[in-house]
Amino acid sequence: MSVPEGTPTQQFIGGKWVDGSAGTFDVLDPSTGEVLCAVPRAGVDDVRRAVDAAADAQAGWAALAPRERSEILRGAFELMIERTEQLAYLMSLEMGKSLTDARGEVVYAAEFFRWYAEEAVRVGGEVRMAPSGANRILTFRKPVGVCLLLTPWNFPAAMATRKIGPALAAGCAFVLKPAEDTPLTALVLAQILAEAGAPDGVVNVLTSDKPGELVEAALGDDRVRKLSFTGSTGVGRALLKQAADRVVNSSMELGGNDPFIVLDDADLDAAVDGAMLAKMRNGGQACTAANRFLVAESVADEFAAKLADRMGALTMGPGTSPDTEIGPMINRKAVDGIADKVSRTVDAGAKAVIGGSAVEGAGFFYPPTVLTGVPRDSAVAVEEVFGPVAPIITIRDDEDALAIANSSEFGLTGYVYTGDLARGLRVCERLEVGMVGLNRGLVSDPAAPFGGVKQSGLGREGGFEGIDEYLETTYVATNW
Ligand code: NAD
Repeated sequence: MSVPEGTPTQQFIGGKWVDGSAGTFDVLDPSTGEVLCAVPRAGVDDVRRAVDAAADAQAGWAALAPRERSEILRGAFELMIERTEQLAYLMSLEMGKSLTDARGEVVYAAEFFRWYAEEAVRVGGEVRMAPSGANRILTFRKPVGVCLLLTPWNFPAAMATRKIGPALAAGCAFVLKPAEDTPLTALVLAQILAEAGAPDGVVNVLTSDKPGELVEAALGDDRVRKLSFTGSTGVGRALLKQAADRVVNSSMELGGNDPFIVLDDADLDAAVDGAMLAKMRNGGQACTAANRFLVAESVADEFAAKLADRMGALTMGPGTSPDTEIGPMINRKAVDGIADKVSRTVDAGAKAVIGGSAVEGAGFFYPPTVLTGVPRDSAVAVEEVFGPVAPIITIRDDEDALAIANSSEFGLTGYVYTGDLARGLRVCERLEVGMVGLNRGLVSDPAAPFGGVKQSGLGREGGFEGIDEYLETTYVATNW
C-alpha cells in the first residue's frame, strides 16, 4: 500500500508546504505495520514560524466580514463532500477504519464546516439594564486569538474540523497538530481550506511524533491564547497544568468509560442495534464507545447471545478493503493494551463468549470480543478500553445501574434502553455524563453540544455552544 498521488506530505505554514526542522518520522499502515510514507518532524523553529504566521494573520482574519469567513467555511464543506472518496480512502489507509466508517466520518466532519459557516454570521452581543437602573450593560464578543489545536488519531478529520470550524468562524487563526499516527488527513484539510480561500497564515498544520516539546514551545509563546485538546485524560491533565503557567484559555475533550444501560423493559433487538453502533463504530475506538454494558439480570443472557452473534459476524480486514466491517486497531501498543485488560478481566472470573485474544501475524488486529460475568471492579469495567470489547455486567434495577454508571471518574456519554420513556428520562437526568443516547446508539451531531463532565473534559464542541470556546466577552458600562 502507498499513499495516493497528490497527498501532501509536508507541513503547512503561512500558506506554504515546508519540511520540518527536526527531520521526519514514518506513518504506518495499521493493517500491515508497513511504512506508508514519511512526514516532517516539526522542531521548535517550526513552532515559532507557525505561530508567527498565525499571529500575523490574526488581526486581518478577525476583521474580515463574517460573511466572507462564512463563505470560506462553506466552500471547504463543499470541497470535502466532493472529495469524500479521496478523504475516506486516506483515513482508512492511515487509521485503519472501514471505508463505510470513513465515508460517514467525512460527512460528519464536513458538517462542522457547514454548521459553523452558518454560525459565523450569528455572533452577537447584548444590551441589558443594570438591576439598579443606573446604567446599561453592553457586551461584545471577540475572537480569543491564535489557537493551538491538538487532535487524536481516532477521527482524523472530524476531531480537526470540530475545532477548525468554530475557530475560523469566530475569527481565530490556528496552528493544528494532528496525532502522529494520522497526520495525512489533517494535511489534506489544510489543502482544502487554502483552496476554499483561507488567507495565508490563518491555517497552519505541524506534524510531529514528539508532541511534548512542540506543545511546550507553543504554550510558552505569549501570542498563543487558546488551547483546544482532544485526547486522553492523562495527557489532558498534563496540558492543563502547562496551560496554567500562562493562564491559556483551555477546552478539553477527554476520555470516557461510557455505560450502556439496558433496562428489563427494553426492546432487545433495538438495544442490540444500538449497541452495534455505540460499540463497533470505528472498531470500538471512539470516545463515545459503549464500554460497560449494564444489563438487567432477566434479559442479560439473551442480550449477550444476540450481541455476540452480531459482533462475531463482522468481517475483519484492512480498512481499505470494500468488504471490511472492522479494521485493525491503530498500533501495536493499542492491541497490547486491550489484550492486557481483557486477560486481567478473564483472570478475575469473566468469560469470553467470542474473541478474547489478539490476532497473530502482520497488522494490529484485535477481534470483536464479548465478555460475560464481568466483575464490577475488573479492568475492563473501570478503565477505558479503546477497542471492540463488550463487557456485560448484570444489574438488579435502575438504582443499581446508576450506582455503577456514576462510580466512574469519567462522564462523557451514556446510553439508556427502555420501553418507558419517562423511566428512561429519569435515568438520563441522574447519569453523570455530558451526553446520553436514549434508545439511540449514536449521539454525535454537529448541531449538538458535545462534551463531558468530571474527568471527561471542559467545554463543548459543536452546536451553538461550540463557537463560545473561541470567543471572549468585553462588557461596557454606559448610559444614554
Ligand atoms: P493522546 O492523548 O495520546 O493524544 C492526543 C493528542 O495529544 C495527539 O495529537 C498527541 O500527539 C498529543 N500528545 C500526546 N502526548 C502529548 C504530550 N505529552 N504533550 C503534548 N501533546 C501530546 O490520545 P489518543 O491516543 O490520540 O486518542 C485517544 C484518546 O482520546 C481516548 O482517551 C479517547 O477517549 C479520547 N478522545 C476523546 C474525544 C472527546 O471528544 N472527548 C474524542 C476522541 C478521542
